Amino acid sequence: MSRAEVSRMRSPLVPLGTLIGRELRNEKLEKPFLKYGQAALAKKGEDYFLIKPDCLRVPGNPSTSFSVFAIFDGHNGISAAIFAKENLLDNVLSAIPQESSREEWLQALPRALVAGFVKTDIEFQQKGETSGTTVTFVVIDDWTITVASVGDSRCILDTQGGVVSLLTVDHRLEENVEERERVTASGGEVGRLNVYGGNEVGPLRCWPGGLCLSRSIGDTDVGEFIVPIPHVKQVKISNAGGRLIIASDGIWDALSSDMAAKSCRGLPAELAAKLVVKEALRSRGLKDDTTCLVVDIIPCDQPVLPPTPRKKQNMLRSLLFGKKSQSFTNKSTNKLSSVGVVEELFEEGSAMLAERLGKDFPANTNSGLFRCAVCQVDQAPADGLSVNSGPFFSPASKPWEGPFLCANCRKKKDAMEGKRAGIPTVIS
Ligand SMILES: [Zn+2]
Repeated sequence: MSRAEVSRMRSPLVPLGTLIGRELRNEKLEKPFLKYGQAALAKKGEDYFLIKPDCLRVPGNPSTSFSVFAIFDGHNGISAAIFAKENLLDNVLSAIPQESSREEWLQALPRALVAGFVKTDIEFQQKGETSGTTVTFVVIDDWTITVASVGDSRCILDTQGGVVSLLTVDHRLEENVEERERVTASGGEVGRLNVYGGNEVGPLRCWPGGLCLSRSIGDTDVGEFIVPIPHVKQVKISNAGGRLIIASDGIWDALSSDMAAKSCRGLPAELAAKLVVKEALRSRGLKDDTTCLVVDIIPCDQPVLPPTPRKKQNMLRSLLFGKKSQSFTNKSTNKLSSVGVVEELFEEGSAMLAERLGKDFPANTNSGLFRCAVCQVDQAPADGLSVNSGPFFSPASKPWEGPFLCANCRKKKDAMEGKRAGIPTVIS
């Protein structure tokens, strides 16, 4: 046998092991690493946050890790914020089919976020407490960022190109005309407080309840048209990396997205979070709970964020024009697609469950039971709502086109759409 023949025979054998090793190394190389920091100043003590950096899609397999960062800005008490912090992640993960590949997992995530938010809201309602909370919930898997939000906490993305974009939508009645229309169509009333013989004051609120937000988790004592269905956006950033700033409205009432991003560029995450809070405080004083998480997604071969040019100029400009630019840039959003470094994968904000859950409804073929697309319980078809239920359950509207829902979640769906009498409901 010639030497060449020997090496031909050997070559498929030897590289096998090295290939696997190389693949693992490559995967490791490709995975960015995260640096994060948190800062907060409490006024009422109703802001909570969650940092979970090492979650695993597949138990025991560190290459399947993903990270979760979230902010919960509670109102009328703290119990909804704490409950969401403790239960939301599990409820989201339980709605993702087992043994999904990474790609399937990421594709299933937006729908699972909707199911998890609604399930958490139903469970909190059953406790009979009345507080509520905003949620901004961020899942980072390598370079893919998925953000689900209700309320007016925000998440912005600052890419290495220096372009700042908003990954959330504000669910404030004052600023969101679509939400005003939805609430009104579902039986709520939108208006301001009336004082001093008919003078209207303050922001737009919805009645009953008087809440300024149109979406939240909790708020059992307001109309059920205040829904927990999140706006979800999923993007993939380039392997140049980027920075996320997640914060409660105490920050955003004082700073525009651009101002927040610019105030801390080039600084490590821990310091950046502190600086954003300080900047907000400087411009507005401590009027509200103020919480900020900064998460840097950093390429592995480049363990520090590249310095940002023109930093001094930016600082100067924000000092000079801070107040002025705030008034008109506060609501501005840069279109992500105009940025080559960010790929938009998914965005949906509808408050209709049928539009958010898709049309497939997997049956548990062994038992003849159906699995509820929201709470994941198995139930006999006769007890729940399936595609075939049609107008029986919702007269005067088109047939249900979503997946199977158990009786409990079906009730919730009807209530959110204003099709159930006797709201608001407090189960005690
Ligand atoms: Zn259910």
